[in-house]
Formats: sequence, structure tokens, C-alpha cells
Amino acid sequence: MPADRDASAQTSLDMIKARKETSIDIVNVRQFIYNGREEWRRKEKLVEIVSKDPVFDKSKREWMTRTEKYTRGLRMTNRIHELEQLLGWSKQDTTIATSLLDDSLPISLHVTAFEPVFLLQASQELLDKYAGVIASRGIFGCYLQTELGHGSNVAALETTASYIPQTKEFEIHSPTLTSSKWWIGALGKTATHGVVQAKLILPGGVDMGPHLFFVQLRSLDTHELLPGIIAGDIGPKSFHGFAATDNGFARFFHIRIPKEHMLSKFAQVTDDGKYIQPPHTKISYGGMLYIRSGMVTTAGWVTAKAAVIAIRYATVRRQGTRGPDGLEKQVITYPSLHIRLLPILARAYVFIGLGRALSQSFQTMVQRLSGGDTSLLAEMHATTSGLKILCTTSSVQDVENARRSMGGHGYSAFSGVGRLYADVIPSVTYEGENFVLDQQVVRAALKAFHSLFGTEGKIRPSPSTVRGLTASSYYLRLLSSPTKEPPFLEDGDGSKSSWNDFETLILLLEWRAALLVHEMAQTAHDPDATLFQRVSRGTTEAFVGRRVGEMINDFRKNSELQESDVAVLSRLYLLYLQTTIESALADFLSFGLLRIKNPSRVRASRDPTRGLRLAIARNCLSLVPEAVGLTDALGFSDWELDSTLGMYDGNVYQALWDKAQTEPLNDKEIPDAYEESIKPMLTRGQQKLTERKWETKL
Ligand SMILES: Cc1cc2nc3c(=O)[nH]c(=O)nc-3n(C[C@H](O)[C@H](O)[C@H](O)COP(=O)(O)OP(=O)(O)OC[C@H]3O[C@@H](n4cnc5c(N)ncnc54)[C@H](O)[C@@H]3O)c2cc1C
Repeated sequence: MPADRDASAQTSLDMIKARKETSIDIVNVRQFIYNGREEWRRKEKLVEIVSKDPVFDKSKREWMTRTEKYTRGLRMTNRIHELEQLLGWSKQDTTIATSLLDDSLPISLHVTAFEPVFLLQASQELLDKYAGVIASRGIFGCYLQTELGHGSNVAALETTASYIPQTKEFEIHSPTLTSSKWWIGALGKTATHGVVQAKLILPGGVDMGPHLFFVQLRSLDTHELLPGIIAGDIGPKSFHGFAATDNGFARFFHIRIPKEHMLSKFAQVTDDGKYIQPPHTKISYGGMLYIRSGMVTTAGWVTAKAAVIAIRYATVRRQGTRGPDGLEKQVITYPSLHIRLLPILARAYVFIGLGRALSQSFQTMVQRLSGGDTSLLAEMHATTSGLKILCTTSSVQDVENARRSMGGHGYSAFSGVGRLYADVIPSVTYEGENFVLDQQVVRAALKAFHSLFGTEGKIRPSPSTVRGLTASSYYLRLLSSPTKEPPFLEDGDGSKSSWNDFETLILLLEWRAALLVHEMAQTAHDPDATLFQRVSRGTTEAFVGRRVGEMINDFRKNSELQESDVAVLSRLYLLYLQTTIESALADFLSFGLLRIKNPSRVRASRDPTRGLRLAIARNCLSLVPEAVGLTDALGFSDWELDSTLGMYDGNVYQALWDKAQTEPLNDKEIPDAYEESIKPMLTRGQQKLTERKWETKL
């Protein structure tokens, strides 16, 4: 850098320039992301209120102990509830305001797990009694499923709920150490009530498997645990994540609850102890589907935050080769960097859209369920499982890749990305461990395959059966006729080729899914090492591919977006499809899906995947000037990001400097460790040297 250029001042100039370069209208695209002006305005207003309130100050949290973080988390929750009352916030306002606090809070278990499960599964009698106080948060809930000995295998849970007809009560009991409830968010110190998953035991010892029970845990007067219950916090978590949440343990010793406290909207027990079957085996999954659909949205926004921080930093960070302006290049201009970051941004946009669509589908399903119609349940189960896996797995990888893209400063807690990572990693484990959940996605795919082609896989399906395919198995239509063939790709040079054509890419994703499921059906007796994961991912990516096609068609019709907005968004969504295929090339090559029509041009390189990779390189390069605009459109304030590297004004060096000055170690020039340890070590080392010199002389 020439001596007359101040690298620190340059950062703001680079950011201003990047904003001028973008061809999108940030306001329009932001409204598109927030599903309209109203939603954006509402969020903006809430950010304004919350960010100015000292209770939500974030400046000291990096130095807090676990207990302080927990206490702060509840102080913030209390303040949110106070503000709700003071300012007349709606439930939606409170949800948004809480989501702005980027700390894992115990209340989220009440809102996302306890309340929805209760509302979906409690009898009318129990709803009448408790739905109001749950909604007004006069009691705090948690969801107690996992035990010390079992999580994924729910059928093997050991906690029992034995029905006693004489008193019309259930007795909840933890018979073994391994039956202790474990990992339960908000159970450790906060929750007053819980929904407990326990084996229903009918008179005579008949085990009906896991069912849900509403159990009071703590006194509403003193907050002490009720007699017969032991509970506490399970301790700190990896990477100091989820620090503000009291994930807890509990054991029950023959505690009694009234019969009405079984969540019995569907399965029931009669007074004399007979079991009444639910109308649908998967009907009790409703709550879980709600949580999973919310996780897709969360994965989208977490990915978005990481992308914003990393892209802004890469825009102002200059290092290495000098560019035409005589300055070292902005690191975002290096292909090795922008081909990492822009796909992350694309996934954030796509996942946010998917999450919104999924929540809408969930509401439709709930409405139908309330009328006894279970027809959407299986489809919802298949799609939420697949999307939960795909979006959480991607967000964990993307957040870490974004952090690594920022070099050394990315490792500073002040970058804010490490904190995101610590909180996002367990999402691949809770609400269905992703590798276990893969099996459910595969099961749904095989079921759809067999219903179309018979158990032998040889039936030719009728056109009406094909037309009846749901969105999650729509790709199977491709196998319905022997004349259908995968598309030919126009050429291999990646410029005007089919690699830039949405429909071709979506079709390819669908062909891959169809052939993977066919392969699975043929080899289910002897699956290879990774087939389950590939089928799960392949079928979900085909589903998402179709949805991305619909999203593109939708925003092309959106009158609030200008032509330039649509052009840039189209390239971003195209990048999603291109990189999705690129990350699964082994499948496409395995099934011979890269059928190049004009191979002479490809032959120069002998690589049938070159066209795709060239198309990605060119698309990324075309999106570099749009990157900052696209990140601004995601609408995060500096307070929300709480990142020295993701500052809106690009002033990253000053921000890092200022933050370092707040490090408590810097309060004293000479640390306490000097007298205790540094000085004796130095003295010992110097004495040793003197002694050695003396020995040498001898
Ligand atoms: C931060 C956090 C918050 C949580 N909050 C809650 C909560 O509020 N309430 C609650 O009830 N639970 C909660 N949990 C628990 C969580 O739901 C379980 O940890 C999760 O379901 C995984 O179960 P597990 O721990 O038994 O893992 P395991 O099932 O023991 O998994 C261990 C390994 O075995 C593999 N595996 C297991 N079964 C199979 C199989 N059949 N086939 C192939 N592989 C298999 C898995 O893929 C994994 O690699 C939370 C967990 C975390 C980390």
C-alpha cells in the first residue's frame, strides 16, 4: 500500500464504492426478503426499541461466566415481556423481538417446543385450563423427551407413566439412572412445567409405548422443585454454546398427576384403563414438525448473518497482489474467496424463502388436522425431515466456512461468527439427529417409489398415479416411462450452456433423485456405505430445486422488483442450483447424468464437469459487484450482527482496536499472574543460565 494511503480509512471508501456498484435496489430486495414492506417496518421498529435498551447491551457478554450469561438471558426475557405489556406488542412482535436477541434463551423452549406440542395435543379440557396461562407465560414450559440412555430411539425411553384406575391418576417414574431426562432446554433452573415423554403403562403392565404428559415441576410460589422430582443443569456445552440456556436433567420418583394431564387429543385412556388409538400413527408428530419447520428459517437467517459479516469483511480487507489502483486487492476479488462466499449467500436467500413456505404449509396442515383431516401429515413429515437435515447441515458448514474465509480476525470472538457457530452446531443433533433422520427421508422416498412401481419395482404406473405424486416425490414421474431420458447439456464451455438454464438444472437434480431412489430400491438388501445419506440429500435437493424454480418464477412476476433486481436474484438462485449439483458430482457421474451434446468442445479438457465449474466461476464473478448490496438487503443492523468485521461502514480496524481495549486483561499493565507465575519462571530461567555458565567454567 502506498505510504499516502491509510489502510484503515480505505475500508470505509471501499464499502461506499461497493454500495455504489450494486445494480439492485436494496429497498426492493429487502422487502422481497421480508415478504413485504409491513414485515420489514415492523422488524426495523423493534430493532430500534430493543437496541437502545441497556438491558440488551451486548458489549460485555464475551467475558461473562456461564451463570452470568444465564442470568442475563432471563433478565432480557423479562424485559421483553415488560416491553410487550408497556408497548402493547402483538405475539408476533414479541417473537420477532426475542429472535433479535442472538442468545439461546430458555424461553425459546417454551415458545417453540412446549407450547406448540401442548396446543396440538392437549385435550379440550386441558386446553381450557392451561392454554391461556401458557400463552401469557404465567407458567414456563420445557419439553422432556431425551434421556441419559436414549434420544434417537424414542421407543426405548424408560420413563414410565402407569395408569391407576382407582384414583384416575398417572404415576410418572424414572426407574433407572439412564431413564433420567437429560439435555432438556430450560429444565435445569427455569421451567415450572413440562411435557414429559413417557411409556404409557396400562393396568396389568401393558406397555403402550411413549406418550406425552403434562407435569408440574416447580412450585409457582417458591420455584422449588415439587416433591419426588430431582432436577438441575447438565453443565457447560461445547464451544461455550447455548450458555444462556439451562439444559437440564430430571428424575421422577413415583409422582402422581391427574388422568386429564395426559395429552389426549388423539390417543386416550378410558377411566377404567382401556386404550383408544389415535386416528393416524404419525398424528403426534405435529409439534415436532413445527419445530423442524422453524429450524429451516433459523438456519437461513444464521447463514445470512455469517454471509453478511464475511462478505463485508472480504470487501474491505486488502491483502496480496496489487490491483490497477496500486493498492493491494480487496480479498473478495480473489476467486478462491468469492467462490466460497457467494454460494453461502445464495443458500441463505433460498433457505429463508423455504422456511417461510414451510411455515405456511404447516399452518395449512394444522387447520386440516383440527378438522380431523390427516392427509397432509405424511407429506409434511417427509419434507420437514429432509429440509431440517439439509438446512442445518449446510448452515453448520457455511458458518464455519465464512469464519475461515476471514483469516486470523475470523477467529476473534469479536468477529461474531464463532458465537453463531457455537449455537448452530447442535441443530444437526436436536430435533432428530441428522443421520438418524436420513432413514426417515429414505423410508418416505421408498414408500412413494413402491406405491408407484409395486414392491418389485416393475409395475408401469398409470398416468393418474403419476399425476397424484406429491411435491416431495414429484421427481419419480421421470421413471414412469422408458422413453423419458435425462436432458442433454448443450455444451461444456459454461457460457451460454445449459448450466445457466434453471429448468435443466432442476431436471438434473430430479433425475439424480429418481435414479438414487431406484438404486436404493434395487439394492436395499445390501446398501453401500453412503447410499442412505445420498438418497436423503438427493431427494431433498430435488424438492428444493423445484421450489427454487417456483421462487424464481414468483419474483419474476413480483411487480415491486425492478428488472435489475430480478436479474441479480436470478443469478443468485441459479448459483444455488449450480453449486448444489457441483457438490454432488459423484452422483451425477455415477449415473451418467452429464450427457454433453457437443462433446468436441469439452474434449479439450476431457472433463465433463468443466462446463459446470466454469459456469459457477463466471456466475460468482458477475455477482461480486452485487455482493454488498445483497447483504445489505438482508437488513441486519450493526447491533444485531455485533461483529467488528461485519460493520456497515466497513470500519473494521478501528472497531477491532476499540474492542481489544475493552479486554479486562488490559485493565492493569502488569497482570496478577506476574508476581504469582511469570516472575518466578523468569527468575528460575535466569538463575539456571547463571548456574550453567558457572558449571562450564569449572
Ligand atoms: C443443545 C441441545 C439441546 C437439546 N434440547 C433438548 C430438549 O429440549 N428436549 C429433549 O427432549 N431433548 C433435547 N436434546 C436432545 C436431542 O434431541 C438428542 O441429543 C438427539 O435426539 C440425539 O439423540 P442422542 O443424543 O440419543 O444421540 P444418539 O442417538 O445416541 O446418537 C449417537 C450416534 O449414533 C447414531 N445413531 C443412533 N441411532 C442410530 C440408528 N438407529 N441408526 C444409525 N445411527 C444411529 C447417530 O447418528 C449418532 O452419530 C437437546 C440436545 C442438544 C445437543
